[in-house]
Amino acid sequence: MQKTKPLFIVLSAPSGCGKSTLIDMLLQEYHDIVYSISCTTRKPRGEEEDGIDYHFLSRERFLELAGRNAFIEYAEVHGNYYGTLKAPVEEVLAEGNSMILDIDVQGAGRVRDYVRALADSDPMKAGYVDIFLMPPSMEELRARLEHRGTDTPETIERRLANAEGEIARAGEYMHKVVNDDLAIAYKRLCDLIDVHSGRM
Ligand code: 5GP
Repeated sequence: MQKTKPLFIVLSAPSGCGKSTLIDMLLQEYHDIVYSISCTTRKPRGEEEDGIDYHFLSRERFLELAGRNAFIEYAEVHGNYYGTLKAPVEEVLAEGNSMILDIDVQGAGRVRDYVRALADSDPMKAGYVDIFLMPPSMEELRARLEHRGTDTPETIERRLANAEGEIARAGEYMHKVVNDDLAIAYKRLCDLIDVHSGRM
């Protein structure tokens, strides 16, 4: 396969936008893209596994890592901490592969600040691309969250309120993709990745 530029991809979306499905599809097709496993202090949901979906940490352990500057960014989302470890991203890019981060808008803002301060030659800066995934509408987002059946009604209301704030910041991203039709949204994501990595 032709050599492509390693990308540092940040993908954000309100919960319920189909982000996990789209990321799974990308990972199956692009074997040179590695998923960044975030650390979180929230409890596992449904079938989630430690070390696969997240590194599930205690608050103490999380704050200890934060104190040691181990995170590129971290944020409090829905009352829990979430953070992206620096070392795995550096290692993956140094190997010539790409890393995809699934993080919220606050986290993406902090990653942008972090990347801005790097040298232009740094792989994280050279390969940086951020994408915001939009729901077709708030009604559709509510329907998807209710259909998912993993959240309590209170959590759904909190996620919807959060979604409005996140969508208001979509303009900060280099690209926006509306997930109305999954196949179309996926194609658009692939095109963006191919263009940025130099596959086409
Ligand atoms: P969930 O609890 O539904 O898995 O994720 C809640 C939110 O936390 C999502 O918007 C997700 O993008 C965000 N998130 C997941 N990992 C990270 C991370 O490492 N850093 C930040 N800032 N947000 C994250």
